Amino acid sequence: MKTAVITGGAGFLGSHLCDKLISNNINVICIDNLLTGSFNNISHLFESNLFKFVKHDVTNYVHISEKVDYVLHFASPASPSDYLNYPIQTLKVGSLGTHNALGLAKAKNATFLLASTSEVYGDPLVHPQNEDYWGNVNPIGPRGVYDEAKRFAEALTMAYHRYHNIDTRIVRIFNTYGPRMRVNDGRALPTFISQALNEKDLTVFGNGEQTRSFCFVTDLIDGIYKLILSNENNPINIGNPKEITINEIAKEIIKLSNSKSKIVYKDLPIDDPKVRQPDISKAKKVLNWTPIITRKEGFEITIKYFKEL
Ligand code: UDP
Repeated sequence: MKTAVITGGAGFLGSHLCDKLISNNINVICIDNLLTGSFNNISHLFESNLFKFVKHDVTNYVHISEKVDYVLHFASPASPSDYLNYPIQTLKVGSLGTHNALGLAKAKNATFLLASTSEVYGDPLVHPQNEDYWGNVNPIGPRGVYDEAKRFAEALTMAYHRYHNIDTRIVRIFNTYGPRMRVNDGRALPTFISQALNEKDLTVFGNGEQTRSFCFVTDLIDGIYKLILSNENNPINIGNPKEITINEIAKEIIKLSNSKSKIVYKDLPIDDPKVRQPDISKAKKVLNWTPIITRKEGFEITIKYFKEL
């Protein structure tokens, strides 16, 4: 039997990945300091004998006595408002945390996967973004704490791959949504859904003409699972290439929630990317992966989840 260590395993993506691995009969050791993760995301897993939870901050030395086949590094604040609130923790988990997770993979001779991000492309000057683009990041801006930590994490991962021969993967995750996002995590979708369900104004930042491309969580996790099982060591984009403006997103949420809410406009945060869309040709070719859930299906599932909360 295989065993995976998932850092950030109680977070939004980490917990869905725990589910996926356990359903494939892989033992999971979930490590989380619960800074932005939550027990609620993993409480259903405690009855499984394949699941173990360790409350630990991965920026400190990680000790695991079991044999380990995979180290999957998902720990990090990931919403812009979270990494503005926790700038030092964000930098530490991306740097020291990645170092410890890679050290664990090296000690156990395990495959390592880094959860990287479309934020490595910054406010992109190439559109859509393919893996060969080096990005346009402001290192000292408020978002720099996340972007630069992830860029450093990618560099460290490739150094461990090249110098220590560690089998590594890097997934660049684009905007993802679905059940288990925190209602108040500050990101566009949970904010809009909660505003629409409470008949409050939807707060669109800037003029709302900036674009994003939203992927439903099960599609993303399927792509990541295929990447783990592949032998692709270079970064790979996983996301849904259907691009849309934030104005359109707000309108779709109001309609699907049967809400009477209106849209109000607020200041655009500093360095907010103007466009974002993954080029997923590589994932299609190398992993034979493509997202299948439509925005309407995904939004309906997510709205239902937030309604029930
Ligand atoms: N946004 C918005 N209203 C909100 C939250 C976010 O208009 O209440 C905008 C934000 O400025 C960005 C887009 O929605 O242009 C997506 O933001 P999110 O925080 O979800 O993630 P990002 O893609 O910026 O990492």
